Amino acid sequence: MSQTDTIPTGTPQPPAPTGLSAEALYNKCNALARNLWWSWQPEVINLFRDLDPIRWRQLDHNPIALLAEFTPERLDMRASELVLFSRINHAFRRLKEYLSETATWGRTHAGVLGSKPVAYFSLEFGVHESVPVYSGGLGVLSGDHIKSASGLGVPLVAVGLFYDQGYFKQQLDMDGYQREEYLDTKVENLPMEPARGADGKPITIRIDTRNGPLLAKVWLMRVGRVNLYLLDCDVKENRPEDRELTSRLYGGDNRTRIRQELVAGVGGVRALRALGITPGVFHLNEGHSAFATLEGIRQFMVDSGMSFDDSLRQIARHTAFTTHTPVPAGHDRFDGGLIEEHLGPLRDSLGISFEQLMGLGRVEPQNEHEPFCMTVLGLKLSRRANAVSNLHGYVSRRMWAHLWPWRVEEEIPIGHITNGVHVQSWLSYQMEQLYDRHFPVNWERRMGEPEVWQGIHDVDPGELWETHNTLKNLLLAFVRRRVSRQCRRRGESDEAVEAARNMLDPNILTIGFARRFATYKRADLILRDMDRLVAMVTDPEHPLQIIFAGKAHPADEPGKQLIKRIANLRHDKRLAGRIAFVEDYDINVCRHLIQGVDVWMNNPRRPLEASGTSGQKAVLNGALNLSILDGWWAEAYDGSNGFAIGRGMQHVDTAKTDARDAEDLYRTLDEQVIPLYYDRDIDGLPQRWIKRMMNSISSLAWRFSADRMVADYVRTAYLPAAGGLSCEMDLH
Ligand SMILES: *Cc1c(COP(=O)(O)O)cnc(C)c1O
Repeated sequence: MSQTDTIPTGTPQPPAPTGLSAEALYNKCNALARNLWWSWQPEVINLFRDLDPIRWRQLDHNPIALLAEFTPERLDMRASELVLFSRINHAFRRLKEYLSETATWGRTHAGVLGSKPVAYFSLEFGVHESVPVYSGGLGVLSGDHIKSASGLGVPLVAVGLFYDQGYFKQQLDMDGYQREEYLDTKVENLPMEPARGADGKPITIRIDTRNGPLLAKVWLMRVGRVNLYLLDCDVKENRPEDRELTSRLYGGDNRTRIRQELVAGVGGVRALRALGITPGVFHLNEGHSAFATLEGIRQFMVDSGMSFDDSLRQIARHTAFTTHTPVPAGHDRFDGGLIEEHLGPLRDSLGISFEQLMGLGRVEPQNEHEPFCMTVLGLKLSRRANAVSNLHGYVSRRMWAHLWPWRVEEEIPIGHITNGVHVQSWLSYQMEQLYDRHFPVNWERRMGEPEVWQGIHDVDPGELWETHNTLKNLLLAFVRRRVSRQCRRRGESDEAVEAARNMLDPNILTIGFARRFATYKRADLILRDMDRLVAMVTDPEHPLQIIFAGKAHPADEPGKQLIKRIANLRHDKRLAGRIAFVEDYDINVCRHLIQGVDVWMNNPRRPLEASGTSGQKAVLNGALNLSILDGWWAEAYDGSNGFAIGRGMQHVDTAKTDARDAEDLYRTLDEQVIPLYYDRDIDGLPQRWIKRMMNSISSLAWRFSADRMVADYVRTAYLPAAGGLSCEMDLH
């Protein structure tokens, strides 16, 4: 089926002997597959899986690809065998109800956004593993943000880029060295269709540069009630090299980068105009999309006839900016030549000089040696700016204090809204069932309320422990399957494949560590004293095992060396079968890990982790965090809801910091984590551990949910920005 062939959801179907013709049944399944709402509905996921469990897994959980392998007749037969009709009908009805629901939180709390929605810009969106247009944390956060906006009914449209090769797939070679593979995504297998303007015709936008025009088509992806528009430069009018411009996420050099950001920002605002959408708020998720403000100013000047300066003030009032990283490489910088080549024609329309334009991206506007920084542009052209955790707020205010040299640090206008995760996407089916049994009815609609989660303390400890162990066994089976397949692919010996099939033990304390292999995240911290690690892993009474996963940026050689070192631990006979590295970390791998481990470990060099969200996902499923007091954990840890490594201090000398943090990590494991885990009662239950799991869930799940995060954005950023209130920054 082609991507233009959308199924009208409301068409009445003729009755058939089964109550539904084969054709109608097929159409209903397709309608379900074409709105990513299904990706957070366990009931619909199970439905797709049941159609063909093996193919479901092989196809990366992509229901469109799965259905493409069925004819309506075969689907009908399969549905009869499994008695799926009522489940399909029920799911379809729920989707329709969801899409037409009007009594939402957003209707009550964000009504003014109704006709002028928030336009949320991000260069990556991680909604589901089958839609590979994300690389990591930033993308998954954007995905969770729009899913929660959908659930809450906050009027919001999202704008990004479509990468037909996405981010790379990771494979390790025999030496444990990372190899990157880029695969073409089949567009017809993605839940997208061409976005159409008022005239019903697909939209193409055009951006002039000093070096010729750039064109992009626009895709529409439906994520529940939110429309996600993705721009794509693969159009025939573009020069061959420009057709590839949006094929890879974070691929190419600085010139590719600025061109992608030009398309996302300037192109994104033009696409919204062509779609007839007038945003009331621009939310720039990271500086990458900050060029959007310049096109916003241009349109405002044309519409209102106001001057550049007045229009700039107006757009800034309606713009919210979120900064995500204290690491310098995370802030894009471009030289004057690249800026003039790409923004020159837009600058002409704005009627400003080159120096004026450069000044918008410089801390010191007159400093000719300073490049143009996207974060500076974002900060200057937004009235409201925020960091993503309390600690990151302090760090960001210090980092950007020189933009406001007349202010003391506490008055630097950058607040914070701590990140959160979309609960339905990360909560396992088994834990959801447990919550259903013990939480108030309709608890899913009240996830931001602390009282709801107090219900966990009434759960029988044995029941919680059993549920956790079910999930842990599923994780271990997943890891064995993946690792043994990966060994086979590399052409390793039969013994190696067999060993992988039998690795890991469900009775052993299991630690998960998975994230991007940037060096500041210190995946090797626990390897600093190998003898000590070996002693812990092989302790006859109280052993531990570790599962690692993560990609290094293709250009990050030190990161790749870290991966190699960890992957090669499997050859260390002393650690036999207790250290695993799972290739190709993505949303799917993350979901398995955070749902099944006992402990989720995070040990970045403080304060470089802006927030982190994977630990929040682990909380929902009963894992305990063991983390440096950095990012979200610095404000989350209360002494009884997980474990802290160290006491939240940093040293100017990183070598000293690393040595001390490693010592603290070993000590916390030795003195707290391991004894608590193996302290069992006569029924074999670790009562004090289970109590800590309950404390973690009840104190953290509601606070670090994306529903809470989006509600915070609505109250402190979107509503003031929509009103264009001229009050000072009011985020903290
Ligand atoms: C949640 C998630 C992340 C972000 O987690 P961190 O704690 O910031 O590392 C990164 N990658 C994937 C695939 C995720 O699902």
